[in-house]
Amino acid sequence: MFSTMQDAPLLVSRILRHGVRVHGSSTVITWTGAGEAQRRTFAEVGARAAQLAHGLRELGVGEGDVTGTLMWNNAEHVEAYFAVPSMGAVLHTLNLRLPTEQLSYIARHAGDKVILVNGSLVGLLLPLLGNLPRLEHVVVSGAAADDAGAALAAVSGVQVHEYEELLAGRPTVYDWPELDERRAASLCYTSGTTGEPKGVAYSHRSIYLHSMQVNMAESMGITDADLSLVIVPQFHCNSWGLPHAAFMTGVNLLMPDRFLQPGPIAEMIERERPTHAAAVPTIWQGLLAELTAKPRDVSSLTQVTIGGSACPPALMKAFDELGMRVFHAWGMTETSPLGTVARPPAKVAPGSDEEFAYRLTQGRFPAGVEGRLIGPGGEELPWDGTSAGELEVRGPWIAGAYFGGVEGEPTRPADKFSEDGWLKTGDVGTISPDGYLTLTDRAKDVIKSGGEWISSVELENALMSHPDVAEAAVVAVPDEKWGERPLATVVLREGAAADFVALQAHLASNGIARWQLPERWAVIAEVPKTSVGKFDKKVLRGRFAEGALKVERV
Ligand code: ADP
Repeated sequence: MFSTMQDAPLLVSRILRHGVRVHGSSTVITWTGAGEAQRRTFAEVGARAAQLAHGLRELGVGEGDVTGTLMWNNAEHVEAYFAVPSMGAVLHTLNLRLPTEQLSYIARHAGDKVILVNGSLVGLLLPLLGNLPRLEHVVVSGAAADDAGAALAAVSGVQVHEYEELLAGRPTVYDWPELDERRAASLCYTSGTTGEPKGVAYSHRSIYLHSMQVNMAESMGITDADLSLVIVPQFHCNSWGLPHAAFMTGVNLLMPDRFLQPGPIAEMIERERPTHAAAVPTIWQGLLAELTAKPRDVSSLTQVTIGGSACPPALMKAFDELGMRVFHAWGMTETSPLGTVARPPAKVAPGSDEEFAYRLTQGRFPAGVEGRLIGPGGEELPWDGTSAGELEVRGPWIAGAYFGGVEGEPTRPADKFSEDGWLKTGDVGTISPDGYLTLTDRAKDVIKSGGEWISSVELENALMSHPDVAEAAVVAVPDEKWGERPLATVVLREGAAADFVALQAHLASNGIARWQLPERWAVIAEVPKTSVGKFDKKVLRGRFAEGALKVERV
């Protein structure tokens, strides 16, 4: 028997229409760096999204055409988020932190026909232009530097438009088409922390379902009473789904534009008083240092979502002391990204050590994500809290393949997808009997010492709890006797002296077994970061191999 229910496709345009009608007075605030922030209601964003769609249609953008964005987090980028997929085209968010060669490869692979670019980023776009045979139009939002604007105008074969002019005078409503919900709505490439960037094409349906999950109380639980500071870039898995989720429940958005340094972020928090914020740990480390040096009123910010890499316990504690409650979440570009969120079970006492231990895990799977652990022999492992294996996931917002390029077919590499269709995450960990995932490492970062595994993350977390250590990254280096051993690289706090023996003792007193203690140490000025702000261990391993690190043995 089939159901008797209506079959309404789950479309991005449906989220937009809802946000505009029901939460039309919610606001997107964009930080401008000087003077007043720019404020636009959801109703205005919706009207401008319709104008943008009309403008893009006039430029020849049709169903399935890929429209790139090279933009900061701002209201115009939110307009593109809704306009492009709603009209049936595909939004492709380009990662502005990537080196030119990678960006160029990605924009070409995706087949971008139009690129929307912020004026301040035109200089980044220019070197790509000769290499994008499908590109017909560039739309510039905001002022570009004179020379960059002139250079762009001189590029042959590409027409240049001004964003506001493209919108001006056009109808503020658009008859959004009823699309197949399984069609691609947006395209995002992995940031390539452990390999070449790979494209994930999110569907309307996956975005819709994922947005509902983001808003659930067990995930971020945000509503129209909230103002969310969206630091995680719009090119990093759709800002973890926040703009879409916001239009579902009327969450007000605070967009930092290009002002991502700790100083302006602290000022934004004090002035605009967000209640929620989301970013990777390195951003929060920076903010913590800033707030320690220059205290501010950040009391509005009571919920902080941290993900993208493991949240160091010392960071979580420090934020707790500032009154900001950290919620640790795990995900990947391939998982839209929400995979797990660490909300402790109701039964544990608030503020207890037991509760803290739950909050440090990666969290529980929501109903839309199924997880399993696979052991070294391919066997499925029990959820007993001790059996460690590779995490595999499946569900309606999990990738089932990679985008094969504008002319290619989707690919399903065997190291990324199991034969029965699960995504192999490359993350290693355990799951407790009550369903909490604890990741010990990425499979590629784990240190294989004499047949035993050492978790680089565990060593880093323990090191970063030492008062002299600002940041620490641990990588595997070749060792004649053990195969691999850990090399600990540390960034010292100002005024601290390198005392590796003391750091070793600190690790031992934090429960690290003797055989796991690093004997190789190096002080570095800064931990290299990837384009989305994660520790870049590929670069560190490369530096070690080149002999560029001054390694001491203790
Ligand atoms: P990339 O793989 O290029 O870094 P992603 O942003 O998709 O790009 O990264 C996903 C990976 O980030 C996960 O597979 C995992 O290794 C890591 N990660 C994300 N969130 C967490 C977390 N809370 N704890 C530990 N690792 C995390």
